[in-house]
Amino acid sequence: AVANTAVKPFGDAFVRLIKMLIIPLISTTLVAGVTAMGDPKKLGTLGARTIGMYLVTTFFAVNLGLLVGTFFQPGAGVDYETAGAAAIDSVRGKIETADAAGGIVERFLQIIPTNPIESLASGAVLPTIFFAILIGIGILLAGAVADPVKNFFEAASEVVMRITMLVMELAPYGVLALMTWVMATQGIEILWNMGKLAASLYLACGLQIILVYGFLIIGCLLKLPVKQYLRGIADAQGVAFSTASSNATLPVSISCAENNLGVDKSVAGSVLPLGATINMDGTAIYLGLIALFAAQATGIDLTAMHYFMVALTATLVSIGAAGIPSAGLLLAATVLEVIGIGPEQSVLVIAFIFPFDRLLDMMRTVTNISGDAAVACAVGKWDGNLDESVFRSDTEV
Ligand code: ASP
Repeated sequence: AVANTAVKPFGDAFVRLIKMLIIPLISTTLVAGVTAMGDPKKLGTLGARTIGMYLVTTFFAVNLGLLVGTFFQPGAGVDYETAGAAAIDSVRGKIETADAAGGIVERFLQIIPTNPIESLASGAVLPTIFFAILIGIGILLAGAVADPVKNFFEAASEVVMRITMLVMELAPYGVLALMTWVMATQGIEILWNMGKLAASLYLACGLQIILVYGFLIIGCLLKLPVKQYLRGIADAQGVAFSTASSNATLPVSISCAENNLGVDKSVAGSVLPLGATINMDGTAIYLGLIALFAAQATGIDLTAMHYFMVALTATLVSIGAAGIPSAGLLLAATVLEVIGIGPEQSVLVIAFIFPFDRLLDMMRTVTNISGDAAVACAVGKWDGNLDESVFRSDTEV
């Protein structure tokens, strides 16, 4: 109770402060980022590389999750039908809300805002990204007449970045307050109830961060020091871990990428907002694990085709899921369906896991945003938009 009344408001205040910055940051940084590229064609190359890298990292993630889940058997001997009726009802409502965004086609259509001002006002991230990119392209196409607008967005993005850095001064306190609250409310029961699922997720996510992002991408592909990458994103990881939301972490991710990793504004401002909504490797790992968990608990034998379909749907759902707490779990039914688990049964699985989801969500969100940052470094380096002296330096902002 003490943690709820005394500590939680500090954490909440911190979360509100960073959420306050999301829309102003995307709408200024992204426009400034696009205009800084100077040529709309570069945007195509950047976009293709970014999406390519996002798919590659998610491919590794899904397979890692399935590998770890097959090895550790997190669902063996679990009886998930024990969730209470009240819990099941509340989860059912949440699943419906999560599904309300419609099918995958509908979700893609909604990226195009019919009213951009409304998108800004309601904090819709993808439509805001879409419109901001177009504004940037419009400025480039208009040429010299648009210089005042261009300068405005450049200056505005600088202003919002300063505010972000001010808010970041509070990060240690905010993270501490949120962590105290999580520890006090989540308890340690998870270790008994969901131990193997949690251990599998933490292990697979840890491997994804260290091996795929650190060793493969930063070390082998980019020939940069892994230690500096991990140090550079530590703040963002702390905020991701304590908020369990990629969206809320976005301002911090952008600030870390620019100020600690030396990624140019044009890259950080475009690659990271996109990544926060479509690149969710921790979520992809988790969805694969949940499928294996349910199959093992119900004794379904999985064929190679099942594995393939799980990998495919986990990837798609991770792309479609929003960067908010528990989004991944609430959309798990799509993945469970391909191994033959019906809607009613998947509500039971989800309701069984839901009470413990926060601790799992924290780790997958850390993975989600670490992947975005690694891809931002890669894309930045490839088009000469990564300042290696900043990346390699020991000073952090
Ligand atoms: N909470 C995660 C995120 O914001 C999404 C998920 O539930 O997996 O990145």
